[in-house]
Amino acid sequence: MSIISQAYHQKIKEKAFELGFSDVGYAMVERLNQDESRLKEWLDNDFQAGMGYMNNHFEKRVNPAMLVEGAKSVISVLINYKPQEEQQDKKAPKLARYAYGKDYHFVIKEKLQELFDFIKEEIYPSLEGRVFTDSAPVLDRAWAAKAGLGWIGKNTNLIHKKLGSYTLIGELISNLELEPDEPIKEACGGCQRCIDACPTDALVAPYKLDANKCISYLTIEHRDELPETLKSQFNNWVFGCDICQEACPWNWKARPTKEESFKPHPDLLSLSEEDWQNMDEEYFRELFRKSAVKRTKYSGLKRNLNFLK
Ligand code: SF4
Ligand code: SF4
Repeated sequence: MSIISQAYHQKIKEKAFELGFSDVGYAMVERLNQDESRLKEWLDNDFQAGMGYMNNHFEKRVNPAMLVEGAKSVISVLINYKPQEEQQDKKAPKLARYAYGKDYHFVIKEKLQELFDFIKEEIYPSLEGRVFTDSAPVLDRAWAAKAGLGWIGKNTNLIHKKLGSYTLIGELISNLELEPDEPIKEACGGCQRCIDACPTDALVAPYKLDANKCISYLTIEHRDELPETLKSQFNNWVFGCDICQEACPWNWKARPTKEESFKPHPDLLSLSEEDWQNMDEEYFRELFRKSAVKRTKYSGLKRNLNFLK
């Protein structure tokens, strides 16, 4: 197998942009030794909270060659989800911006599958590989950083110099050999606005997130009662939390997405506090039919809404 020509490197990127990705980069498959120690420390501290699945498949997480046989490269893609418009009622329970539109898992997977088919048909017929988006033990942010798409900020999000951190990440891991892109330098510098802004002190140190205290984890993944000790710090977030991203200067000038699938249901942004509190299961199903909010189910959303009362 040989590395494909530079022209094809460019052609794959052009196709990725044509499909609606906001940026794309390449990394060479190798064991993520640096990330291994960070992940190990995070798990040893029990910062994964109730996400027990994070303890599984450790070796696969740090070594994608264990996930995809013969893997040589990671094509990392980003898609901007920064909304054009925001929720109107400032007193209404707040939804993380990534959840406004269609569930990103479907959006990204569909586009990545098209990219895969394009490479196989037009560039490399022997292509073998898999596409991922937050759906398997893959360290998305680490791969995006290696592929030169940004750096992992102190708030643990990937930060892209033009797009900020309101992006979602996907990968195509395959047997295609590609010339890797250069990683870019971390550019948080002396800033620590995200750490200062976090209302629950979940960012226990730069680059260290304790999910046990994170509103995003608690409102989406946590399956039990919400901790009363954090009640006054929830700041009206009903699903997710964007505070450490709102605080980040790299997001202030980021342009909004053009992705049609991320447009919210027409009712969503105008819901009042009362509308949220009175939402019945039928309306929940209609409003969030294609949305990631379904993850909490109606019962989870109701638990969160009751907690905010
Ligand atoms: S998502 Fe919210 S709670 Fe979690 S670390 Fe960021 S600011 Fe803190
Ligand atoms: S707020 Fe500052 S420290 Fe935090 S991620 Fe953004 S640039 Fe980095």
